[in-house]
Amino acid sequence: MITLLLHGGAGRIDEARTDAYRRGLRFALEAGWSLLAAGGSAADAVVAAVAAMEADPEAFNAGVGSSLTREGTVECDACVMDGRDGRAGAVAAVTRARSPVALARRVMDETPHVLIVGTAADALVEDPIENEALRTSHAMAQLERWRERRQQPTGSATVGAVALDASGGLAAATSTGGVLGQWPGRVGDAPIPGAGTYADARVAVSCTGKGEAFLRAVTSKALAERLAAGSPLEETLGRALADVKAMRGSGGLITLLADGRLGWAFDTSHLALAWRSRHGDATREHVAVSDEAAVVTLGAGGTG
Ligand code: ASP
Repeated sequence: MITLLLHGGAGRIDEARTDAYRRGLRFALEAGWSLLAAGGSAADAVVAAVAAMEADPEAFNAGVGSSLTREGTVECDACVMDGRDGRAGAVAAVTRARSPVALARRVMDETPHVLIVGTAADALVEDPIENEALRTSHAMAQLERWRERRQQPTGSATVGAVALDASGGLAAATSTGGVLGQWPGRVGDAPIPGAGTYADARVAVSCTGKGEAFLRAVTSKALAERLAAGSPLEETLGRALADVKAMRGSGGLITLLADGRLGWAFDTSHLALAWRSRHGDATREHVAVSDEAAVVTLGAGGTG
């Protein structure tokens, strides 16, 4: 059995852009699936899928096309965690990486650390690019509108992936440009293992939404602990969102269990989501921009 489950962010996705989101999700699904199907690890698959969404300039708030800070710059956060051995790598407030998740992978594989930030993280980028190269006209227009309305910083369209590989290993990865209009130097939940990203031997989780609330609720670790204590998946997902709401936030999350069950939940207007699962001879998949806030669980292989 192998499974890959992706999100392209919880928040508001304009009708006019839903096709771009679906295209981007399909492309990312192929990128991660081709590795999983060839016997690759869950960590390889989640990094490839997230990197594909980071490279997409038409959709998603990650890598190219990230949301802008109130100064008009791009600052990215990303994390990957390998559930087989609990290793994690993350970067925060990086400004010159085409693929922040690939940089997070390097932190995991090539340094003795878990999280490296700012200019020190930028210095690790092998092929640094100018910050402007990550800035799209859509992101600039969004910041203009945000400035006119003098809103609070808002999040959406962060990307994430969870995977189960043929040897039963789980991994999770998340990447984001943060929240639109954020202060420079602000770091959200995505690069923090146990908050926006988490994987162990039983479960892999990637979150999206108002990072401050997910940080305070320590969302993904709390979810893993409740599941380990025997709480049913559906109830646990609902509880995770309730905890985020109690911290005055909203958003969504995706989960994959070692026994093959999938689950996701969101309480925003949309969640961009895709999954593919092969169980025995059957392969199932689904790609959607969902617009009905829900808690959804599926059996192993995406059944039910
Ligand atoms: N969680 C991300 C952050 O707070 C934003 C998002 O998911 O839209 O940085």
